[in-house]
Amino acid sequence: MPAASSKKLSRLVIGFWIVNFFVGVFVIAAWFWMNTSFKAIIIPPTPIVIEPATLTARFVASFTSTVTQTLLPTITPTLTKTLRPTQTPTRTLTPIPFSEGPITIGKSVNGLPLEVYRFGTGATERLIVAGMHGGNEYNTVQLAEELMDYLKQHPEIVPPEVTLYILHDLNPDGVARGHNYLGRTNANGVDLNRNWPANWQQDWPRAGCWTTTYVTAGSGPGSEPETKGLMTFIQNHHFDALINYHSAALGIFAGGLPPDDYSIRLAKAMAEVSTYAYPPIDTGCDYTGGFTDWADENNIAALDIELTNHTDTDYDMNLRILEAFLNWKR
Ligand SMILES: [Zn+2]
Repeated sequence: MPAASSKKLSRLVIGFWIVNFFVGVFVIAAWFWMNTSFKAIIIPPTPIVIEPATLTARFVASFTSTVTQTLLPTITPTLTKTLRPTQTPTRTLTPIPFSEGPITIGKSVNGLPLEVYRFGTGATERLIVAGMHGGNEYNTVQLAEELMDYLKQHPEIVPPEVTLYILHDLNPDGVARGHNYLGRTNANGVDLNRNWPANWQQDWPRAGCWTTTYVTAGSGPGSEPETKGLMTFIQNHHFDALINYHSAALGIFAGGLPPDDYSIRLAKAMAEVSTYAYPPIDTGCDYTGGFTDWADENNIAALDIELTNHTDTDYDMNLRILEAFLNWKR
């Protein structure tokens, strides 16, 4: 090999190694650069070192607040929902008592309570009202109290499908005034059996009617608190039949203007078990604003039953009426 060629070859080799050196340096530098960049991107910065005590405190604090706020509202409704179904069987296990009362359904003009008693728990609701003419017909209040005593002693006479309510004294102000003719009206001088919104009249021909004392029909239909209390009570129930006791002597009046078939059938059924007259004795009196007329117009079989006189309760006969009334099929 000539000397010139040998020198040329040496230079080539040296040049190659120089280039090779720089390429190597470049590759190493590039690797190092890329490596640190990736670290910055992929690996998060070194976490801040927290003292164990601080860490615990932070953890506890955040844990507690999260638990308290999140769990409590969730737990409370769940518990309430769970408990309610548990309470319902408890109520079912405690049966509704056979009788209940007094239930105050309103007040008289003078603030005395209008008290109702319930007997039985059936779906068919029946009602007996006494004392509408207060002290003048006080024997109707006494009869109602006797019937209530009997019902408490003999709950078996109330059929399972029936609930009976008894309002023993619709006119406590009249009863308080005296057990005689002076006790007929309420404290406003109103005849409560002329105050109902059924052919209500401010005045009426007095011939054949009550004239022993002067009575009015009230300032308008349903003006008296006694009327309002009883009317609201009836409207809040589903009575299919009622008896309103009076005295004396005229017999059984079927409510209605004219009476509906259901009131006539009830009147006949009660006449069958008693000596009370149906149709009743006609004195020629024009009855206006009557309670049982209003009841009949409101789809309730309704009767006025008059006791024989102003003192006796006709107890045995009215026990038969009570049983027939409880078992009557509308
Ligand atoms: Zn009466």
